[in-house]
Order: sequence, then C-alpha cells, then structure tokens
Amino acid sequence: MRDPELSADADRRIGEGRPAALAWQDAVDAVADRFERLPDAYLQERAQDVRSIGERVMRLLLGVTEPESLGEGILVVDELDPALAISLDAAEIQGVVTRRGGGLGHGVLIARARGVPVLTGVGDRAAVTAGTMIAFDVRSGRLEIDPPAEVQAAFGDMLDRRRRERERALADAHLPALTRDGARVAVKANVSSVATARLGAGLGAQGSGLVRTEAVFAQWHRAPTVEQQVEVYTAMAEAFAPHPVTVRTWDVGGDKPLDFIPVAEEANPFLGVRGIRAFRDDPGLLLDQLEALCRVARTHRINVLFPMVTSVDDVDWSRARLQEAARRVGLSAPPHQLGVGIMVEVPAVAVRLTRLARGLDFVSIGTNDLSQYTLAAERGNPAVSRWSDALDPALLQLVRYICDRAPQGVVVSVCGELASDPDVAGLLVGLGVRELSASPSAVPTVKARLRTVSLRELQDLAAGAVAARDAAAVRELLLTAP
Ligand code: PEP
Ligand code: MG
Repeated sequence: MRDPELSADADRRIGEGRPAALAWQDAVDAVADRFERLPDAYLQERAQDVRSIGERVMRLLLGVTEPESLGEGILVVDELDPALAISLDAAEIQGVVTRRGGGLGHGVLIARARGVPVLTGVGDRAAVTAGTMIAFDVRSGRLEIDPPAEVQAAFGDMLDRRRRERERALADAHLPALTRDGARVAVKANVSSVATARLGAGLGAQGSGLVRTEAVFAQWHRAPTVEQQVEVYTAMAEAFAPHPVTVRTWDVGGDKPLDFIPVAEEANPFLGVRGIRAFRDDPGLLLDQLEALCRVARTHRINVLFPMVTSVDDVDWSRARLQEAARRVGLSAPPHQLGVGIMVEVPAVAVRLTRLARGLDFVSIGTNDLSQYTLAAERGNPAVSRWSDALDPALLQLVRYICDRAPQGVVVSVCGELASDPDVAGLLVGLGVRELSASPSAVPTVKARLRTVSLRELQDLAAGAVAARDAAAVRELLLTAP
C-alpha cells in the first residue's frame, strides 16, 4: 500500500493510540467516504476499489491467509467458513454451492450479507470438476449440472425477471413498506460492521434491528475499550439516523468464538455457556459494553438487546447490569430513550413471553436459534439439516404465539434469516410480525414484495402455513402465494 496520504492517516491514528487494524479501517473508510460523496457516479464507484484494497491489507494485518483470486463463476466447496466468506467479492463471484454446509452457518450468513448467493448442503449432486456449467436458484433450492440449452434459457429468463424486480425495488428502496391495505412494516438491516450499517442505510433500511457485536469485533485479540466501542456504535447510529440502532450485547459461545472472551470447552456448546450466560460469573466486559451504549444513548437513538436469555432471572440480571452501567456514567437510570429488549431464541422464552417481556420495549425473534432449539437439530450441521428447517410449521406456530402473547406496547421483531427471504417476509407479517431485520442487500426486495400484497392475503397464507404438513408443504404454499 503505497498511497502516502492513506498510510500517513493510519500512522497518525496509531500514534493516537488506536489499534493498528482499527486505525487502518478508519483511514480506509475516510478515503472511501470521500469518493462516495463525489457527484460523479464513476468516481463514487471507486470507493469500492479503496475498500477492497483496504480489506486485503486488513487480512495481512490480521494474519488471515490471502485466498487465490477466485475470479468469475460459481465456487463449489465442502463448507463455507467465515474466513473464506470474508474474502468473496460479490462483484466477481456469481455464487457459492456447498456440499455439506448447513444454511445458517456464520460463513453462509456473511457471504449472503455481502450479496453472494449461497446454495447449501447439496451433497454429491455437486461432485463436479472445474469448468462444469452449473445453474442454481437459492429461492427454490434447484441445482442443475450441465443444463441443456432450454434449461439455460429458462434460467436466463428468470434472472432477467429478478434483475428487473431488483431494479424496481432499488428505485423505491427509500419508500416505506406498506401492504396494499395499508399495514405498515418496519424493515431494518442486520449489521456486523460500520460499512454494512452504511450499506443498509443506503438501501433504505429503517434502522438496524440487530448489530452482531461479536461479529463487529470478531478479529480483535483484545477487548475493545469503552471509548472504542462508543466510536463504533456512534458511527452506526449516525449511519441510520433518524432511525434507531439495536445493538446486541456480546453473543459469544456456540459457534461464535471471541479471543477476548474465552469460553471453556464444552461437550454441547450450543446448549452451554452462550450469550448472556457467559457473563454471570464475571460481568466486566458486559458492563463495559453497556456503559458504551448508555453513553451513546445520551445523544443517539439506540436500543440494547440481550441474547440467549432463558429465564425471568436472566432478564432481571441483565437489566440490573444495565442499571449498574448507567450509574457508571453518572445516571440514576439508563437513558429513557435507550430501548431494552431480549432475543427470543429459546422455546422457554416464547412459552413464557407474557411474563418475560413485561416492562421491556421489544423482543426480537432469532429464528436461526429458535429453530435449532425447537427442532433439536444443530443449525450448522448438514447431517441434520432436514430437521432444522426454519419454515417448519412448529416454528411458525411459535412465531404466531409470540406475536399474540407479547404484552401491550412490546414490539415483536424478527431478526433471524427468515426475515431476509422476500418470499417468507410476508408470511411473517401474516403471523403478526410488524418489524423485520434483514440482510442489508435483501432490504429493498423485502420492502417491494410487501407492497404487492394485502395483509388479508398474508393472514390467509399464514393460516395455511401453520396448518401445513411440514416445511416442504409451506414452501409449496409460498410458491403459489400472491
Ligand atoms: C438468530 O439466532 O436467529 C439470530 C439472529 O442470532 P445469530 O444468528 O447471530 O445467532
Ligand atoms: Mg442467535
């Protein structure tokens, strides 16, 4: 990296005490932002080049191996891990097919958030050699190897239709999502960095319903200080202003390791010390995070979201820590504009929602985990993926139950992957959900699709889905839905 201005800026920030990786990221963001603000569309696009060089240097700084250039085409791999996912360039690669990976592994989520279509767990059907032609459709799960000319043409037509749909959705991205009969749905973005926050805001997201802080700081070896966190959360809040940003506290454990919050090895990590449980014995880093959020909330619209809550005691304990953090910043109570909510990921919380959500501002349904705990099938394990389908009617019934039982004034949001599927978003609305938080790139299409239907139609669809035999039957219903 020979640009003297960029390296001097990074050096200056390091001199001020910023860790090298963050200093570099800030310097790159500053240059990219300047490009983005230029009036010329061609020059605006150069921001992407700056960011992509920035990422390469970042990988070197963090010791992440530089992948060979993948170029255009479809990548076929056994599993998609987060390191590979981070290196994918959506402008080049047309998609990824995994032989064994489940649909909700974190590598898959990262690739999708970057706009790369991923078809997972296709098994030996993808035993192909380099150069083979492949066509696939994530929405229907269809995969064609060496398709004949007429199938290629049909895929081409479908792509054209989708491209037109996407263009229309982008043109209307900043309009609200109102169904034909006037029901209003807030569509927000799930974010895992300041850059994805800006991307989501630019694509019309009405705030963020989920900031995965364990992903924001995933590459850090030492815990960020309160000041460093204030800086990051403020930048996110500013990206979405005047809409609020919901920051989830460290959701460590399960398949989400954080160097600076070590969790003991366990036989069943997904049933072990995850999320809020990791801080019961030593709340220090949670208190730092809550202090940062209380500070930002004094001037910005921000909410706090507690993950992996299971009991009334978990809720009370979490709120007591928030109270403690507020006192640290000289307040007698958390700033009143700081909304407080919990993830609904554990069936016990859904069943006792009326009691657990009392006094909260919102609850956010994490369908990725709620499905693995409801269906007893691990989210990233391809051997059980047939049992871990989030469209299982049992899960849909739980979503409806949660919407029906939420205390008056408590907003019910969905931030799991289901909300990012434009075919499924309407079904969630039919079940009673009025706030969705989707992958940033999905926001315009989700909004556009909701505008084409009436709430009445969605409620009928939901009634049929809840009564369906299984997830496959729900998918059939979605294919014929309005
Ligand atoms: C979920 O469980 O649905 C969720 C949104 O949280 P994560 O995927 O980060 O576990
Ligand atoms: Mg979860």
